[in-house]
Amino acid sequence: MFVDSHCHLDQVQGLEALALRAQEAGVARMVSCATSLASMEAHLARFKAPGPVLPALGLHPADLVALDDGEAGRSLAFLEAHLPEAVAVGEVGLDYKYAVSTAQRARQNAFFSRFLALAKKHDKPLNVHSRRAERPVLEQLIAEGAQRVLLHWFTGSSKLCKLAAAQQGYFVSCGPTLLTNELTQGVVKGIPLENLLLETDAPVPYSLPDAAAPEASEPAWIPRVAAKVAELHGLSLKEVERQTWKNAKSLWGFR
Ligand SMILES: [Zn+2]
Repeated sequence: MFVDSHCHLDQVQGLEALALRAQEAGVARMVSCATSLASMEAHLARFKAPGPVLPALGLHPADLVALDDGEAGRSLAFLEAHLPEAVAVGEVGLDYKYAVSTAQRARQNAFFSRFLALAKKHDKPLNVHSRRAERPVLEQLIAEGAQRVLLHWFTGSSKLCKLAAAQQGYFVSCGPTLLTNELTQGVVKGIPLENLLLETDAPVPYSLPDAAAPEASEPAWIPRVAAKVAELHGLSLKEVERQTWKNAKSLWGFR
């Protein structure tokens, strides 16, 4: 069985059919990440552990940039009150594409710090975003003692992956870009399978090798990503399936 360790199932159309396709593809668990207060509320209303959809509660750093202090504070308070109902804190992190000023970046840092403290207090793992901020994210996680971490879509640098995985024991996830992007393939080749998880970030659209136009991704795509990992690591699909299931289970704590 497979796990999609990072997706946004509150944003998809036709959830029931999508869940069925996931089940048929052997994707038995999906960690769906909230991105805003409305998204956190939707997650708790629709998805209940033990699954197949496991809700994570968070405030996306790109969303955070657009909020005023009152809205941001209410989001944080909601997260704190409802965290026991979630499997993880996420999606949280830093996004330097959207935070361009020093003040915006400082605010993202401050909120990320609060999320790390809440994760520690409630003993929850983190589902972390780091667009254009891989190094600052990693440095903040290490400085603040985060231990149970998934760095989602963190496949831009072999050096940082080594630091995250080998030295810190963090997990790194790769998604459908692995099917087409040679840089990602090179990086993923060097990540030990024991530190690797699979994701789609659904419904983010991708151009698949055999498709004419970009398509909205969905968890049922996970076995294709797993097959590419198997090819790159010189392993069977079964071995990748077994190890990534074990990894996901140990991080997210499902049965
Ligand atoms: Zn995401």
